[in-house]
Amino acid sequence: MTTTSTDVPTLIGAEWETPVSATVDEIPDPGTGQTIARLPYSTMDEIDRAIAAARAALPEWSDTPAPQRAQVMFRLKALMEERLEDLAQLVTLENGKTLAESRGEVRRGIEVVDFACSAPTILMGSSLDQIAPGIDEEIGRFPVGVVAGITPFNFPVMVPMWMIPMALVCGNAFVLKPSQRTPLSGVRLGELLLEAGLPPGVFNVVHGANDAVNKLLAHPDIAAVSFVGSAGVARYIYETAAAHGKRVQALGGAKNHMLIMDDADLEQSIPALIASAFGSAGQRCLAGSVALGVGSVGDEMVRRLVDQAEALHLGPGRDPETDMGPVIRDERRTELLAYIDEAAGQGARLVTDGRGAGPADGFFLGPTIFDNVTPDMRIWRDELFGPVLSVMRASDIDEALTLLNASTYGNMASIFPFGGWNQSFYGDLHATGMDSVHFYTSTKVTVSRWF
Ligand code: NAD
Repeated sequence: MTTTSTDVPTLIGAEWETPVSATVDEIPDPGTGQTIARLPYSTMDEIDRAIAAARAALPEWSDTPAPQRAQVMFRLKALMEERLEDLAQLVTLENGKTLAESRGEVRRGIEVVDFACSAPTILMGSSLDQIAPGIDEEIGRFPVGVVAGITPFNFPVMVPMWMIPMALVCGNAFVLKPSQRTPLSGVRLGELLLEAGLPPGVFNVVHGANDAVNKLLAHPDIAAVSFVGSAGVARYIYETAAAHGKRVQALGGAKNHMLIMDDADLEQSIPALIASAFGSAGQRCLAGSVALGVGSVGDEMVRRLVDQAEALHLGPGRDPETDMGPVIRDERRTELLAYIDEAAGQGARLVTDGRGAGPADGFFLGPTIFDNVTPDMRIWRDELFGPVLSVMRASDIDEALTLLNASTYGNMASIFPFGGWNQSFYGDLHATGMDSVHFYTSTKVTVSRWF
């Protein structure tokens, strides 16, 4: 199977199938606008079959000793290291980000596999002998069942890999519904998992948009849902999956503020702000989208930001000279242009205008910086998810913190831990570290009475 210039397949059990759907999306390379693949959406029957395949594979896989499940992760790790460059090129092809950014994302994904390899240790339970006279008690961790993973376009390898290794090594089966805008990487991960020796049916891939997601959310054989995407959808997923009795973690969008104090070292700070705001064309949940100058730093900060933003070289992600790639789709660029027009009309000062920048083919929007942004503007309130940076000023740290805390989002700021608060996260257990072990397992208490 080749994942360029053909129909993108689903993985149901051991079989790669082409969905027989009437709904087919063209998948463009965002850097050139040219079609690289066609994505037929999975039918409801195909999604049923994928869930059934996962359900059928679950008993044997969940019964497989944890050290053996970890062996699949060791092999996956070796394959991903060996194919890192191929994976990075695929991410760049379908997402548009630079190759350096894609390599970084694949590396972050591999790090989760590293963690999953420690399953025999991190899945250990605990026990207490003689919790009462003649009675011992032990707590063990058990898989929750079939997990659905629903992922966004901006990290086509990394975000699925936040979920897949941990869910699988904990003994669950998995159905992935990757973003319909970047489906190729999820398919490639399926190929690697099978090559690593994962039994057929333990991992399945289906495609589509809202209908496919709703099917997964309502299906009685889906026990848990891991979601990453925009805030409104995260809330919808959380409410709907919970209403169907499922365990759910839903990581949402963000509006990240970066406070620059007036004694900050601007030589170091400004390149960090530029990388944060314009890396991956601003399409990262941790992208800094508001630069908040405190005290007298504002004018100098803006001058340096403008100089450095305007020096960024736009181009297709595969070009080694490129500092910043395109946004994901032409429609997304159109939405961003509407935000830019609106903010300019409301009195924000456009100090770097990215409109019309970059190659004519592909979905380019250059780095864009607004000064004098105020809290009544949508450009401050909404997550734009593109290369648009708002500059605001505060007279002191208290005023800056009040402004920052007025945002409805809470994914990242220099004083917040990453992981998500407020409308950036719905659930109890986060996606990484030991929280992932706790999310993908249920605990069971066994009480033994000795006579
Ligand atoms: P999105 O919410 O549009 O899509 C995410 C997934 O949800 C996709 O698989 C899509 O098919 C599905 N979906 C979209 N609308 C739906 C609906 N109405 N009903 C059911 N399913 C629906 O997000 P996106 O544009 O692909 O990704 C960007 C967003 O993801 C940004 O908001 C970004 O901040 C967020 N994100 C957050 C994190 C985090 O860790 N918090 C990480 C990466 C991305």
